Parts: sequence; C-alpha cells; structure tokens
Amino acid sequence: MIPYGDYHMHTPLCGHATGTPEEYVKQALKIGLKEIGFSDHAPMAHKPMPDITMSFEDLPKYNAMIEDVRKRYASQISIKIALESDFLPGYESKTKSIINSYPYDYIIGSVHFIDDWAFDNPDTREYWKKYDVNEVYRKYYALLRQSAQTRLFQIIGHCDLPKKFGTRPTVDLTDEIKATARVFKDTGVAIEINTAGLRKPVAEMYPSLHCLKIYREAGVPLTFGSDAHDPLDVGKDFDKAVDLAKSAGYSEYLIFKNKQIEKTVAF
Ligand code: ZN
Ligand code: FE
Ligand code: FE
Ligand code: ZN
Repeated sequence: MIPYGDYHMHTPLCGHATGTPEEYVKQALKIGLKEIGFSDHAPMAHKPMPDITMSFEDLPKYNAMIEDVRKRYASQISIKIALESDFLPGYESKTKSIINSYPYDYIIGSVHFIDDWAFDNPDTREYWKKYDVNEVYRKYYALLRQSAQTRLFQIIGHCDLPKKFGTRPTVDLTDEIKATARVFKDTGVAIEINTAGLRKPVAEMYPSLHCLKIYREAGVPLTFGSDAHDPLDVGKDFDKAVDLAKSAGYSEYLIFKNKQIEKTVAF
C-alpha cells in the first residue's frame, strides 16, 4: 500500500516553489492521497532570506491560505498545516516564538546551515571544495542531535542532506549515525523518508538504507514526504519510498495533529 500521507511540501511564499496550494491539493487527489501536510519554509530567525523562506509578514497569509484549502477540500482530503523550520543554534527562543504562533500540526526541523553556510544551496556549492567532507558530515550529525534536543520539532527533515550533490564521507560514520539515532529516540522525534533526493544529483532518497536501518533499530518512527516545490512532485516516488522503508524493517508511519501523534498507519 502506498502511504496516504505526504507531509512535506511548499508554497510560492518561500520564493523558490511554484504552484498554488490548490494545485498541490488537486495533484494529491489525482494520485489518491488521503492526507497531505503543507510544510513551507518558516521565516528565518536570524535574518530575512527571501529566496529561501517566507517573511514574518507572510505567516498570517500562509496560515490563511492553507486553512482555506483545508476547509474547501475537507470532504475529500485531510490537510495538515505545518512548517519546515531551520535549526539555527542560538536562535531557539526566536524559532520557538515563530512555530508557536499558530496551532501547527507538526514542525519539520531541518539543518540546512553549517557555520552559516547553506551547504545544500546550489549557489554556494563551490564551498564544498573548501571544507573537509568528513568534518561537514560530523558537524551535520552534531547539529541534527542538537536540533532534536531542543524539542521544538516533531519530525527531523531529510536526515542525510549533505549527500545532495554526491559528496560522500570517506570514513565510516556509523557511530555518528547511531549516536544521532539514540538522541532521536530519546527526544521522541520522527524522521522522514524524503523522496526529493531522487530529483537531485545524488539521485537517492534521504536517508540512505544504511542510515534508515540504524534509525529503525533504535526505534525512531517514520513519516513520508515528497518535499514538493512543484505540484507535480506531490507524492512522487512513494512506491520507492515504501520499498525503502520495508527494506529497513519499517511497517508503519505516523500521522500528526496539534504536534501530537494522532495515529499510526500500517503499510
Ligand atoms: Zn525549499
Ligand atoms: Fe529542507
Ligand atoms: Fe522542504
Ligand atoms: Zn526540505
């Protein structure tokens, strides 16, 4: 069975996505999803970044826009309202005030920055040459653990994102991943299988099977997300995502409401 919930999709308010929320909803209906969650990029806590996230002023508009489709399509599909929030160390209280400003169903916490470098941004891809790849991964996993420990987030986004452009660690980081999995389990966060990686140079989902097995063994629960920035990508490659989840030993995923687990669905 294809998971009926896609928990990761964006809107044009972030400055780098296309399509109206209604178009995302229509695509979800077309492919038979029963639940979706909008999780557009929350305003940055440290400075405005108009090409990456919505602004503070956009938040009420975002909430109203999603509530509008939620109401209009209530008889056909369940729509959750969420945010993808950057984890920026030192900005936890500002982040908290943003994500608590509205009754969101869940918050995806994502690490996109290491030392102020947006390591997954194609515009700063050349910075990879300046960094030690293994050091980037170690810092990344430390930030993932720190992000879970804030207890601000219910889901941790694309949890091996540094591989996006195909840059891989040259040493075995299994211990780092295991330490991260333990923290995720202890803090009660879920991870996502994010199919967007298939559409990136790395051409594989986040996280890899190797990582996913470690999270499964640690008892970290799962959600599914397409990370669609275009309506046509809603629910994309979810058949592959289910195969990956099963290969790692997963048999269920989570549905959230009001930042609580609403139910567990078997697949
Ligand atoms: Zn984005
Ligand atoms: Fe992200
Ligand atoms: Fe996203
Ligand atoms: Zn994302």
